[in-house]
Amino acid sequence: MNINDYIMPEDFDINNIEEKDITHYKGKTHWRQTKEEAIYEQAIGYKCKKCGKSTNSMSWAMCKSCREEEEIERHKKRTIVEWDGVSPIYSNHTDKWFHSYEALEEYCEEENTPIEKMLLVPTIKEEHRYFNIENFVDEYGVYDTIEGLEKYEEQINDILKKINDDYPAYTPDEENRLDFNWSIL
Ligand SMILES: [Zn+2]
Repeated sequence: MNINDYIMPEDFDINNIEEKDITHYKGKTHWRQTKEEAIYEQAIGYKCKKCGKSTNSMSWAMCKSCREEEEIERHKKRTIVEWDGVSPIYSNHTDKWFHSYEALEEYCEEENTPIEKMLLVPTIKEEHRYFNIENFVDEYGVYDTIEGLEKYEEQINDILKKINDDYPAYTPDEENRLDFNWSIL
């Protein structure tokens, strides 16, 4: 991003940047080493790289409505699959997880959001973390040998697997999307 992509406050005037010396320029609150940094600190957004409107934030290169448009485009390209009825449902639009269809319906009702706007995807159960005794010994370095310790590897992995079975972790499936028989976007 360069200075031309910044949105500056209405009363901003580049000639008014306070300058102490060659390495001190006043930003909004701090003294900066370059004029560019001082300008950056006073900027209130970027020009959206898609539509040119302000992003109203220095954290995004695109404005909210363009980001939403892109998300919808991405969503449309996903393959429609059926929900397995077990794994949580993830909403790309709200960044929320739903553990039942009822919870999802309730949310949509409360927030007055049509369900098709939620951009719902299935989720994939994660593998359990695998414990490796050699890595453990390497990391802690207090044992001369792993001899005799190998038996713990299996035991610990059994426990990790059990934890994961009882309290599974999921990640959103970015390849697929869910269809609950509503009109698809
Ligand atoms: Zn935009």
